[in-house]
Amino acid sequence: MERLVFATGNKGKMREIREIMEGSGYEILSMKEAGIDPDIVEDGTTFEENALIKARAVHELLPDDIVLADDSGLVVDALNGEPGIYSARYMGEDTPYTIKNNNIIKRLEGVPDEKRTARFVCAIAAVFPDGTEKCVRETVEGRIGYEEKGEFGFGYDPIFYCPEIGCCTGEIPELEKNKISHRGKALRKMRTELEK
Ligand code: IMP
Repeated sequence: MERLVFATGNKGKMREIREIMEGSGYEILSMKEAGIDPDIVEDGTTFEENALIKARAVHELLPDDIVLADDSGLVVDALNGEPGIYSARYMGEDTPYTIKNNNIIKRLEGVPDEKRTARFVCAIAAVFPDGTEKCVRETVEGRIGYEEKGEFGFGYDPIFYCPEIGCCTGEIPELEKNKISHRGKALRKMRTELEK
């Protein structure tokens, strides 16, 4: 069975990719399961570039496998696209998300509903054993709320109101979120690409 290695150490992402790739005929492995733990510097300027940087770095170590890597983040229009590709590093990597979320809410003080538009973006890159590369990008559109809401999710989920579901992404369980999320959509798009 052909191996597909997903360049992440995140258990939630591995659960999601296993769920979406179910029945695809690939053996799905995390980097740990593939026996590697590389230190990759993500110094690209777009989500796509960062996803490709990760996928290429892992391809160097595992040239016989198909390698997938993702990069994602929150883009807030009224903040000129911040935090964007710096979503994880915004206000410092170790700063609790409740502080980051409340800082974004504060920066949007006085901004009316229709200008609070935002989106989660996810780019997924693939590098194949022959060196061929592919990249897909998907988004989920929403608005920044006025307070944190919900017990589920992670990161910016508590402040991301999504009209499609009528609540914040922090208010729905993981399996439900995977159906509408940027990453879920991008993974399904990549699966279609892999099946071509
Ligand atoms: P990465 O793709 O794992 O590097 O994620 C980048 C950062 O974007 C995360 O650390 C979160 O801050 C943010 N982010 C990406 N996807 C989501 C999501 O689905 N919900 C909330 N925050 C997210």
